[in-house]
Amino acid sequence: MADETISVKTTACTQCGGCLLVCPVMAIKGTLPERCTDNNNLYQDSGSTPSLKELLLYYRSGYNTIILNENDSYWNRIIEEANAILRLMNKPLFLVNHIRKDKSDSYFNDDEIATKRRRLLGFRLIKRFLKNNNLPENILITEVFKEYQWFSVDIESTRCSLCSSCLQLCPTGVFHYQNKHFVIDAGKCIGCLLCQTSCPEEALSIRPDIKKQVVSAYPFHQAFCPNCQNYYPSLSAGEHLCPACHVRQKLCFHSERIGTHSLNFRT
Ligand code: SF4
Ligand code: SF4
Repeated sequence: MADETISVKTTACTQCGGCLLVCPVMAIKGTLPERCTDNNNLYQDSGSTPSLKELLLYYRSGYNTIILNENDSYWNRIIEEANAILRLMNKPLFLVNHIRKDKSDSYFNDDEIATKRRRLLGFRLIKRFLKNNNLPENILITEVFKEYQWFSVDIESTRCSLCSSCLQLCPTGVFHYQNKHFVIDAGKCIGCLLCQTSCPEEALSIRPDIKKQVVSAYPFHQAFCPNCQNYYPSLSAGEHLCPACHVRQKLCFHSERIGTHSLNFRT
């Protein structure tokens, strides 16, 4: 990475398409992985192991049986992860059929795989599924199962100063103000943690939590600042320092620590 641009070493890229599906904000465009499929079966092949999102996308497109030709720990792990999510959603799990493969016993030989790759390009069907459901091709993980949320977005309302930083930074529009409420649509959260790490009051907490989508609305209250004697909008009612006085208090504390008492904070 140089001059804030990302460069890809094309000689090392095998065009497996894996990066396209794991990037949480779908920042990368290119060719998606191709897999062998027929009916509702997805076949393990010699290509890359699918990402969790890719597997769930196949599930949503109707491929709920996975044919494994050997005991591959990576495929097994990713199927287990996908099934753990499906279990939380109370949905039928992926079925796994193991077919023993040795030199003389293979459900596809290499030539057949090449043919089937051409004939049965799984991602074309996924594309059709996305198109039929008006979903973008560069789909976010949150849109794979739209009615569910993947992360909980919790706010400590007594700490929040309504600085709007999270509203500006969130790439998927989880936060907005509406009818004098601070609205959090956790179903849109992709877990990038931008809001949590940038919140000046450490009021936000993001954690993985798969469940039915929840939209929370926190009402604005009129609070009173005992320092500057002004009323101001806040998520918690009562008397407490307004954001400006709170910042001044912090600066004053800081200046005392470093020995410069230039700021005059009234208490
Ligand atoms: S960044 Fe933190 S303090 Fe600012 S509005 Fe969001 S939750 Fe509140
Ligand atoms: S972690 Fe925060 S910034 Fe990132 S998507 Fe979720 S709510 Fe938005």
